[in-house]
Amino acid sequence: MKDFHYHRPATSTDALAALATADSAPLGGGTDLLVTMKEGLAEPAHLVDMRYVRGARDITVRADGSVRLGGAVRIADLAAHPVIREKFAALAEAARLVGTPALRNMGTIAGNLCQRPRCWYYRRGVACLKNGGTGCAAVAGENQYHAIFGGGPCHAVHASDPAVALTALEATVELLGANDARRSVPIGEFYAGAASNPRAETVIAQGEIVEAVELPARSAGGTQRYAKVMQRGMWDFALVSLASVKRADGEVRMVLGGVAPAPHAVNPSVGEDVASGELDDESADALAERALYDAVPLSKNGYKATQAAALLKRAMLALSRA
Ligand code: SF4
Repeated sequence: MKDFHYHRPATSTDALAALATADSAPLGGGTDLLVTMKEGLAEPAHLVDMRYVRGARDITVRADGSVRLGGAVRIADLAAHPVIREKFAALAEAARLVGTPALRNMGTIAGNLCQRPRCWYYRRGVACLKNGGTGCAAVAGENQYHAIFGGGPCHAVHASDPAVALTALEATVELLGANDARRSVPIGEFYAGAASNPRAETVIAQGEIVEAVELPARSAGGTQRYAKVMQRGMWDFALVSLASVKRADGEVRMVLGGVAPAPHAVNPSVGEDVASGELDDESADALAERALYDAVPLSKNGYKATQAAALLKRAMLALSRA
């Protein structure tokens, strides 16, 4: 790993000043960034620790039921927070299933949302779209953990569990940049270009930070689940995951993880059919098939479609009776 300067700003203004140069990067728990630096995949000269910025670790519950998560809120704190557990259970469960206790105690929500691909070609420095090359080594290679949606050019999946739940909950990512320029990005747009952007998987510009994540009041409560299939059974990334939500107003939203370069929202028409009444086995099978109709597995990951169908069926049957 190359030497770097460590900054510990106390205010967002100081953090943005430290991030003004192109060779700087925001630091959360470092559970992914420091690994990529050790692997030689990132070489920032300045690391700006966001965990000591005023308010960055706060979880603010408002009177209207909406919640603001500071960018440096730890994953463990999300999983344990009583309001998140009661009102945003899909997010609490997704956080609980992230990595190991040590990783959850170190990792922050901003860092988790912005982690780089786990693709083994990228991580081992094979030249590819994300790594200085022009093609994707996974297409004709070992692609069992790669995407079944999206069509490339990069087929790496996004590894965040909370991002999947946050997409089902219609969260908004609050970005802060130079001169206090703020913009709110619906999380469904946060990963736009993830499959084609060689530098990152998000719409964050150089010098911007994830200041907070907003959970809307309309997504609080109802019936919420997060299910995750892992190869090792625990302490692992998702092969396939599913956040499923039936809101208090009856709207059903389902989002798959582990299957695309970004969380993959199931076609809303499927959710409408789930919301319309109690399903039987046959109709749940048909809806799962419809939800996956545009999946195009690579040579070695067709099993993901089978796993996704099973997760969808179980969730849809439960939600239709909720
Ligand atoms: Fe590179 Fe993406 Fe292909 Fe992996 S899936 S080899 S990160 S282009």
